[in-house]
Amino acid sequence: MLRGSVQIAKIGGIGINIHVSWILIFILVTWTLAGSYFPQNYPHWPLYLYWTVGLATSVLFFVSVLLHELAHSFVARARGLPVKDITLFIFGGVARIGEEPETPGTEFVMALVGPLTSIVLGALFGLVWFLARGIYEPLAALGSYLAFINVLLGFFNMIPGFPLDGGRVLRSILWQATGNLQRATRWASLVGQAVAYLFILAGFGAIFFTGDWVGGLWIAFIGWFLVNAASNSYRQLTVRNLLAGHRVGEVMSRDCPEVSVGITLDRLVNEYMLPTGTRCFPVVEAGLLRGLLTLHNIRRVARDRWSTTTVEQVMTPLKELKKVGPDEELWVAMKNMTEEGVNQLPVMDDGQLLGMLGRDNIVSFIRIKGELGI
Ligand SMILES: [Zn+2]
Repeated sequence: MLRGSVQIAKIGGIGINIHVSWILIFILVTWTLAGSYFPQNYPHWPLYLYWTVGLATSVLFFVSVLLHELAHSFVARARGLPVKDITLFIFGGVARIGEEPETPGTEFVMALVGPLTSIVLGALFGLVWFLARGIYEPLAALGSYLAFINVLLGFFNMIPGFPLDGGRVLRSILWQATGNLQRATRWASLVGQAVAYLFILAGFGAIFFTGDWVGGLWIAFIGWFLVNAASNSYRQLTVRNLLAGHRVGEVMSRDCPEVSVGITLDRLVNEYMLPTGTRCFPVVEAGLLRGLLTLHNIRRVARDRWSTTTVEQVMTPLKELKKVGPDEELWVAMKNMTEEGVNQLPVMDDGQLLGMLGRDNIVSFIRIKGELGI
């Protein structure tokens, strides 16, 4: 889960989270609608109506964003991809799908269904406007705003730059055409970055030519977010493509120097750590793994207590350790390490320690593959 999020509901088994930054955008949207958009367009309404309709419109807008993400999620699940959760945050919504689509066709449908949902919602709210027009103005106003914003959302997401939906659509088409996922990803990501820089440029252009600071900075801010997202998702996918099909057992280090529970930190540092450059030690007692000791554990103990503190006192005990099996996919292990914020995982099978998987193992594996061009 994105740090700073709380789960507020579960729909069809999919957790719905809101991130703290969403509250800010929710207040901003409600306030803009009730304090400026509706008063400017319907100056004869009473004050309470601006806020009631403003709040209802804002809530329905975020429900629309949620439905867009649910559409992605349900298609993903129907195609056999696990969906973890959906988080609403300052730039909209994001569905966390546990695996990448395996065929261009799946990616195409999964990406396209989101913008399509927004367009259909736009049409439905357009119908609300059409039916309520001349009968009850506040409802017509709500309908016309939500019709406009959903259609805008649909088209914005179809901009062909990764990581927007349009970028995924573009990638799936390139993937289908070239048969090369890596190259398709690269192109979709480059287009994504180009689009993102155009946003930043357009934002500053708007400030320069119209003096609209708020609108201009907001566009530039979205551009900045897209630049980061495009390069991050490209990096992630590249690493994933390189690691795909490889198992933990292939790259783990097998000859980890073990230390016994009783030795002091002083001895560990001077006799094991400094001479070998090893940063992480399995701690054993009578041949059985008891825990793991890393640089991190040692740093928490004051230097003058190193001679009286044993590794057993400061190690991370076995039951608190995240572990990995030798047959697990390498990129899954890598992702778990990132999510848990650890730099190494003990590789265990049937309670036996087989080796250690460190980030450095994976990095050198990727580097060697890269240098050999395989
Ligand atoms: Zn989408």
